[in-house]
Amino acid sequence: MDKKDFLVRGMTADGFVKITAVQSTQLVERARQIHKTLPLATAALGRTLTAASMMGNELKYDKGSVTLQLRGDGPLGAITTVSDSNGNVRGYLQNPAAVLPLRADGHLNVGAGVGRDGLLTVIKDIGEREPFTGRIELQSGEIAEDVAAYYVLSEQIPTVCALGVLVDRDQSVKCAGGYLLQLLPGAPAGLVDLLEYRVQDVGSVTANLEKGLDMRQVVEELLYGMGLQLMEEHPVSYECKCSRSKVESALISLGREELQRLIDEEESTDVTCQFCDVVYHFDRKDLEELKKAQKK
Ligand SMILES: [Zn+2]
Repeated sequence: MDKKDFLVRGMTADGFVKITAVQSTQLVERARQIHKTLPLATAALGRTLTAASMMGNELKYDKGSVTLQLRGDGPLGAITTVSDSNGNVRGYLQNPAAVLPLRADGHLNVGAGVGRDGLLTVIKDIGEREPFTGRIELQSGEIAEDVAAYYVLSEQIPTVCALGVLVDRDQSVKCAGGYLLQLLPGAPAGLVDLLEYRVQDVGSVTANLEKGLDMRQVVEELLYGMGLQLMEEHPVSYECKCSRSKVESALISLGREELQRLIDEEESTDVTCQFCDVVYHFDRKDLEELKKAQKK
């Protein structure tokens, strides 16, 4: 069960089905520890991070990134996640302590937590001057359905998305993972029926992980007998890209007046990274230096 997080990508021999899957238990647990999320937020942020990881891995531009944001009208507020082109992710959400009653089936009510009224936005930075932006209305707030709908509506790719986060009794993450199953142009109609059957038959991501399977085995079961070829398998993790120099640039970009105001009014200035909660400390002398840098 303590297997490291990883992402796996493959395709069937006929070239009609591609699949990406990620085992994300440790990175979702890391997010929980950083943001001190309660179970509802752990599940919602964890599902979104898992989806973002797979979306980021699709990028062909090495230095690219994908931002996946859900902004619904539920008590969790906006959820923002970012993945690099490998599938390493970071993210945060507005209300980590939001609480709702469990659903009748005993599961966390992520759909109501996110809310049905709102938008899912995908921003892909692929090294062009303007990033690509796609946006759809939320379908259910359950996240997997919303991500699948994004692919169908915005990119015209028939997609099944499954995402799961199981929170343990002590509120830590017991297991987490997901997959994106996509049909490529020309796929025969019968294939859709077969895949729908397989998805039902294999069952939920967390049920499989709890049984002791890993996501690669889940992928093999989903595409059993279809000549699955694995093209990629590598570790992924929760990874923040912040640094003191990036925070300095942000402070400089506030402008001379705002910097001078901070120098005049504040003993010191702390800047907290939203993604990893690291605090960058600047005293007056540091800010004076930044002001000098600005003149150039
Ligand atoms: Zn950070």
